Amino acid sequence: MTPDRPCVTLLGAGPGDPELLTVKAVKALRRATVVLVDDLVGDGVLRYVRRSARVVHVGKRGGCASTPQAFIERLMVSEAQRGERVVRVKGGDPFVFGRGGEEADALRAAGVDVVVVNGITAGIAAAASAGVPVTDRRHAPGVAFVTGHVRDGGTEPDWAALARSGLTLVVYMGVARCAAWTGALMAAGLCAETPAAVVQHATLPAARQHLTTLGALAADVQRLRLGSPAIAIVGDVVRLATVGLDDAFAPAWQVAG
Ligand code: SAH
Repeated sequence: MTPDRPCVTLLGAGPGDPELLTVKAVKALRRATVVLVDDLVGDGVLRYVRRSARVVHVGKRGGCASTPQAFIERLMVSEAQRGERVVRVKGGDPFVFGRGGEEADALRAAGVDVVVVNGITAGIAAAASAGVPVTDRRHAPGVAFVTGHVRDGGTEPDWAALARSGLTLVVYMGVARCAAWTGALMAAGLCAETPAAVVQHATLPAARQHLTTLGALAADVQRLRLGSPAIAIVGDVVRLATVGLDDAFAPAWQVAG
């Protein structure tokens, strides 16, 4: 890549705790002259941005509709073409439910180079914050990252296949519609007693972790008002959880364990 070609960095800011930024992310933020920031990026991350940089918030703050994707892409292209060092900051990893692929396509189509800086994705961080490894050879041969909320143009995960897979399920954007996907998993034969956890605001001071079962997850989310952003984890690995054990609701598997 020649240095004078326009370039945009798609940067993952991790799940929230600024200490979980990568060294590469901090370096890119310090160099940036234009920064486009998504909703779920904590302010702590922006402390590395120089004061002279132009910071544009493109999320749905204060109940406003989010900035149209086409506008974001046009802005990145025009700023990069003007020679600005453009950094597009996304929560977690830009290539995990972050539209990073779509943005990279649009940028490249406009003749702009793309550099991707990975971030720690919320699903892994949320599980780890509860002491849960997403894979563990004693419990799960692998993990599936799935969305609980399909937006326009997306495909619904095959819940029946996932129910049979034996994989740990890490569900993003899943609390608002959890009755639907937990129901689909159980209808496909996944046991209602399967251990489950919900972690809201993972790695941030406001973090809340709740251990439950697949069958009780939806009711618990409502009762405890667990809202977005939250990750749900379903599978036997949740037996390894080290937090949330003093919760008022003790799932059967926890008592038995
Ligand atoms: N690219 C991001 C995911 C963006 S989709 C990543 O790799 O993490 C947005 C969803 O991510 C939220 O609905 C929620 O499910 C999850 N999420 C993001 N940050 C979170 C956090 N700190 N705690 C729990 N869930 C989080």
